Amino acid sequence: MAAANEFLNIVGLINESKKILVIGHIMPDGDDISSVLSLCLGLEKLGKEVVCAIDWKIPSYFYEIPEVSLIKSYEEVKEYKPDLVVIVDASSPDRVGRFSEMLEKYRVIVIDHHATNVYFGNYNWVDPTFAATAQMILRLNEELGIKYDERLSHLNLMGIETDTGFFRYSNADEKVFKDAAKLISYGAKPDQIARMILENKKVEQFKLLSRMIEKLRIDCNGLLAYSYLTQKDYKDFNCTEEDSGGFVSELRSLKGIEVAVFLSEYVEGEVHVSFRSKEWFDVNKIAVILGGGGHQRAAGTTLKGNIEEIVEEVIKVTKSLLESETK
Ligand code: AMP
Ligand code: MN
Ligand code: MN
Repeated sequence: MAAANEFLNIVGLINESKKILVIGHIMPDGDDISSVLSLCLGLEKLGKEVVCAIDWKIPSYFYEIPEVSLIKSYEEVKEYKPDLVVIVDASSPDRVGRFSEMLEKYRVIVIDHHATNVYFGNYNWVDPTFAATAQMILRLNEELGIKYDERLSHLNLMGIETDTGFFRYSNADEKVFKDAAKLISYGAKPDQIARMILENKKVEQFKLLSRMIEKLRIDCNGLLAYSYLTQKDYKDFNCTEEDSGGFVSELRSLKGIEVAVFLSEYVEGEVHVSFRSKEWFDVNKIAVILGGGGHQRAAGTTLKGNIEEIVEEVIKVTKSLLESETK
């Protein structure tokens, strides 16, 4: 169905629902948390009973945002019986963790900007022309007649800022700057968001970064940079996987590199793989082959097994695709 129709269907469904559950994705990022909270606060302004939840630990640096305490765990809401479920920024059922069980039981709306979305809701508003799902929430809230105050604007801007790499990536288009300007005019503070996420590092994170740099490999005639961290690496510096957020961007920042791959053994035997590209290579293609998804310049997947073997396999696939496009 055309996106415009689906948008109006969603507005109608929300208007007629009283109890709404808003769900974000596992391994939540700034866009996800921003989208969940902006929709949650917006719907509360409409007088709805709203519960929001994510089936994953929220990275601790987001706790500077007081509203983050509104986000509940799966255990806290599994007995809740909503009229409507709204899933944001998730491209497939596995991305919502145990909340995927709710797909059969309730009417589900999916709002997302991933081109790889599998349309797993009853209603799916999917539009990859948006750099961030948070921009879609802004439009939805406006259509619902919600008035933006300073807090809602600030929370809504966070997703736009983080999913565009603080306005640096190729997805930072005119629409992004217009939306950001609007939210800033309502009181959002982009510098506060940037400081909270970029300038809030512990010394241990620097040490962890040095371990990642020790393991750095350059391949494909200087086009590919990759590295990985094992559970032992994290433990050596008293860190967890959330402390390596942004490491993949460090790899991409190297001169001449087109593709960066960072593998994180976030728990024993489970590895999250982050792919980034700079200008022309579509990393989403690699992620899809490996069972994941994302965007052309940022994609990911999660694999189970021995980290060294996973590194070998992922790099083999990456090299073969990259080499086939540079011949
Ligand atoms: P990350 O490297 O985790 O920051 O993810 C980069 C992009 O890939 C984001 O847009 C994610 O939504 C997407 N992504 C990450 N992991 C997965 C996965 N396991 N399945 C599908 N998409 C993913
Ligand atoms: Mn996300
Ligand atoms: Mn997003």
